[in-house]
Amino acid sequence: MAPEQSFKPLSPPQARMWTALPPLQLRGTGTAQVESLDHYLIRLVDLVGITHDRMLEICNAAAGQILFPPHGTSSPFLCNETELEARIAAIERLTGQNDLLRHGTPWACSAVMGVHAFSSAARARRWCPVCYLQWDVDRSAEPLTWSIEIKKLCSLHGSELVDRCRSCGKAQPVRTHYRARRACRFCRTPLGWDAEPVSAHLTPLDRWVESQVDQVIELCSDPAQEKLPADRFHQFLEAFSVMHGDRADLPSALRSVVSLWSYAPATKISLKMLVNLAGMHGCSVLDILLDPVRTAQREPFFGFWQGFDYLPLTPRSRLRGSVRLQVALRNLLRRAAVCYLPSLALVADHAGCKQPEILHVQNQVLAAYRQARRVQHGKHKSKLFEQAIQPALDALGLIQIKRVMLYKIVPEIVTASRLDKTDARRIAETALILRRAKRAHDASLAVLPDTARDTVWLQ
Ligand SMILES: [Zn+2]
Ligand SMILES: [Zn+2]
Repeated sequence: MAPEQSFKPLSPPQARMWTALPPLQLRGTGTAQVESLDHYLIRLVDLVGITHDRMLEICNAAAGQILFPPHGTSSPFLCNETELEARIAAIERLTGQNDLLRHGTPWACSAVMGVHAFSSAARARRWCPVCYLQWDVDRSAEPLTWSIEIKKLCSLHGSELVDRCRSCGKAQPVRTHYRARRACRFCRTPLGWDAEPVSAHLTPLDRWVESQVDQVIELCSDPAQEKLPADRFHQFLEAFSVMHGDRADLPSALRSVVSLWSYAPATKISLKMLVNLAGMHGCSVLDILLDPVRTAQREPFFGFWQGFDYLPLTPRSRLRGSVRLQVALRNLLRRAAVCYLPSLALVADHAGCKQPEILHVQNQVLAAYRQARRVQHGKHKSKLFEQAIQPALDALGLIQIKRVMLYKIVPEIVTASRLDKTDARRIAETALILRRAKRAHDASLAVLPDTARDTVWLQ
C-alpha cells in the first residue's frame, strides 16, 4: 500500500460530508496489490460490527433496488454485469469514497472485457499462505489479484496461491468474517504458513503471464484511470486485419480471433484471451489496451513463444499428447497438497502421451513433478495408493466429472482399498485430474467441427 495515501487531507467538501457508513479507505490504491472491493466490504462489515447480509441489505436499501442478492457466493464485482456500476456507486456513496472504491475492481476494463473475463463465476477463496501468516490488521488487505484466475503466485512472496486448508483439504467460504478468516472454517488450523517461494521455478512464459496480470490490475487500481472505451480491442483487430489482409500468414489461432471479430464485432474478450493474443503478437496486454492501433501495426513476433498453449484456450481436440501430459502434471502439482501424485507413466497413459512424446514436456514441469513426488512419497505407502486409483476411476466413471461430486466416491475408495478417509480423499482428487486428462485424450480422437474452435476462444 502507499502510506502517503493514509495522510492525504480530504478536500473541503468531503471533509464536511456526513457519510452513512465509516469513510474507510481502500488499501493499496495505485499498485498491483490493490485491495479487492470484496475484501474492503469484509473489513467494513467488521468495523461497523454487523453481519455481511445486513451490510448488503443497507446497500440495497440505499440503492432502492436489489443489487446484492443475499447469501451469494461469487464476487458481485468481478462479473461484469449491468449492475456492476450501480453496486460500486452504492458503496461509494454510503462511505463517501466517491470514484475511489471502483479501483478495487476491474471497472476500468469492464467495457472491453466480458462477463467472467477475470475469473469463473463460483470460485473458492484463494490466498497466499505467507500473506496470511504475516497479517497486519493495520496494513494488510486481500488483493484483487488473488481473484484473477490466471494469476498463480503472490507477487509479494512468490509463493503459490492456494484454495484449500492444508490440514483438512477443504475450500474456504469467500465471505468468512474478517477476524475468523485466517483460520480454517472447518478444522480451525491456521491458513497461514511459511510457504516456499516457487517463482524461481517458473518458466519465462509463466513469469510473463504473471506480470501481465499485475500490469492490468495496476492500471485498474490507478485512481486517475478512466474507464477504457469499449472499442479498444476492436481497434486493435481492425488495424491488425488491414496489416494482414488475406490472413494467410497468421497463425491459425490468431486467424480464428480475427474471424470471430468479423462476424461478432460487439464481442467482449477475456483476460486469458488478451494474454494469449499479446503472447502471440509479442507485445504486452497494456500495449493492446492503451495503444491498440500502433501495436497492431508493429511487426508481430509469431512463434516468439513457441507453442503458446499455456493458457487453456486451445481446443482439446488439437492438443498434442505432450501438452495434455503437461496440463495434467501442472494440475496435479497445483493440488499436490490435497492429492496423491501417481507415477509419471500412469499420468502419461491417461493423457494419451506416448513414451517419446514425454521428452517434449517442459523440463521444469517434469523436474518439479519428480521433486514433488519425492517429497510426498516420504510419507506415503505408494503401493497402496497406486492400487487405489483404478477403483476410484471406476467409481468416478459412473458420475459426473465434477469436484463437488468427489465426496460420493470416497466411501467406495475406503471399501476398495486399505486407506483411511483422508487418504481416500486424496485418491479421489487424483482420479478427477486423471479422468480429465483422459477426457482430453478422448476428445483429441474425435474430430470437432471448426466452429468449436471459435467457441473456445470466447471463454
Ligand atoms: Zn503473499
Ligand atoms: Zn481445515
